[in-house]
Amino acid sequence: FKIGIDAGGTLIKLAIQTASQPVFRIFSSNDPISCARWLETHYDGAEFCLTGGGAQKLAESLESVDWTHIPEFDASLQGAEWLLSKGDNPVPTNYILANVGTGTSLHVVRNKDAARIGGSGVGGGTLMGLSGIMLGINDFEQFIQLSATGRRDNIDVTVAQLYAGAEPPIPGDLTASNFGRVQESLKYSPADQAAAVVGLVAETVSTLAILAAQKESLQDIVYIGSTFVANPLMVKIVDSYSQFCGMHPYILPHGSYCGAIGAMLSL
Ligand code: ATP
Ligand code: MG
Repeated sequence: FKIGIDAGGTLIKLAIQTASQPVFRIFSSNDPISCARWLETHYDGAEFCLTGGGAQKLAESLESVDWTHIPEFDASLQGAEWLLSKGDNPVPTNYILANVGTGTSLHVVRNKDAARIGGSGVGGGTLMGLSGIMLGINDFEQFIQLSATGRRDNIDVTVAQLYAGAEPPIPGDLTASNFGRVQESLKYSPADQAAAVVGLVAETVSTLAILAAQKESLQDIVYIGSTFVANPLMVKIVDSYSQFCGMHPYILPHGSYCGAIGAMLSL
C-alpha cells in the first residue's frame, strides 16, 4: 500500500491507494498517537509519505515505520491537479488555489507550477473558534447543523438595508456589514449566530481569492480544505459570491484530501 498523510493544524487526513479509488480517513491532530497506532495496526509494511505542519510531530509517533516527506504546498497542488483531472469539468490550467484549512492559504497556479501569493488567519479555525466563544459548541458537525437553520439577516446588514428604500449602487443583497445589525436588533437565535459566522468566514475567504484572481488576471478559483466538508452554507456563499464577481469557482469533492492525495502520488 501507498499512503499519503497530510497532518494539518486541525485534522490528519489519510489517502490510501487501492486498486481503484483511494480510500480516505481522518484523525484529529490533537491525537497523532491514535493515528500512528491505527496505521501500524492496519498498514504494517506500507509506504508512507507525510506532509503538512504536523508531519514532524506525527513522524515521532510512527516508531516502526519508514516514511518520506513532501512540502505541503507541492502536495496540495499535486492533489488538486489529480482531482481536477478526475472530475467532469474542463480542467483549468491557470487558476487560484485557495486552501481553506485551519487558516487560509492562496496560491497562483500556472501550467502545474504554483507560487504562494498570500493568506489569511481567517479560515476553518475561525469558524470553530467563534462557535466555541459565542455558542459553546466545539463540535464541527453540530455547529454546521445549527448554521443550516439560521437567518443571517437578523445579524448582518445588507446593502439594501443600508440604502433603506433608495436605489443602491451595487446589488442590495450583498453584505454591507457582517454582524453590523447586532446593535439595533436583539432578535437573533443561536442558529442565526452560527449562520452569520459562516457568512463572515465564507465572504472573507472568497473575497481574498477573488481579489487574488483579479490581480493575476485569472477567472478560475479552485477551493480546497476541510472547511467545505458537509458545510452547504459555506459552499453556497463561496460559490455564489465567486460567480457574482465573474469567477468560475471549483469546490472539489474530496478537496479536503488534496494534501494527502499529493503525498500518496509522490510515492
Ligand atoms: P492547516 O492546513 O491550516 O494546517 P488543516 O489541514 O488541519 O489545517 P483542514 O483539515 O483543511 O485544515 O480544515 C480544518 C477545518 O475544517 C476546521 O477548522 C473545521 O472548520 C473544518 N472541519 C471539517 N470537518 C471537521 C471535523 N471532523 N473536525 C473538526 N473540524 C472539521
Ligand atoms: Mg491543511
